[in-house]
Amino acid sequence: MSYDDNNIFAKILRGEIPSHKVYEDEHSLAFMDVMPQAAGHALVIPKQGSRNILDADPETLSRLIPVVQKVAIAAKAAFSADGVTVVQFNEPAAGQTVYHLHFHVIPRMEGVALKP
Ligand code: 5GP
Repeated sequence: MSYDDNNIFAKILRGEIPSHKVYEDEHSLAFMDVMPQAAGHALVIPKQGSRNILDADPETLSRLIPVVQKVAIAAKAAFSADGVTVVQFNEPAAGQTVYHLHFHVIPRMEGVALKP
């Protein structure tokens, strides 16, 4: 499958729809998930258009992963979390619903399950 820039995250990147941004640099953006599975649930995306990890080029990934780490560390501190779930999905069979590469960063509290 190829990348289609008519997806919601491409629209966020173009400023066509609003988002609560928590980090931005030349290549990456992080913003809060509109339907958080836990307090502080953020999404980290590349500005370069990749559908998911299966078509992302190595350079995009190598720039993105340090941002995922930065956001995970900041979210854990900001939400006084016990841990952080970092997860991402590729293609509908795996649960992907927005077709622009993204990593979920979700602060976790001991013994508290994620919202469905
Ligand atoms: P996926 O299932 O593709 O891994 O996750 C897509 C995520 O995007 C979901 O957690 C969903 O809540 C989030 N999402 C969908 N539409 C919007 C939106 O318009 N704004 C924001 N901030 N998040 C969105």
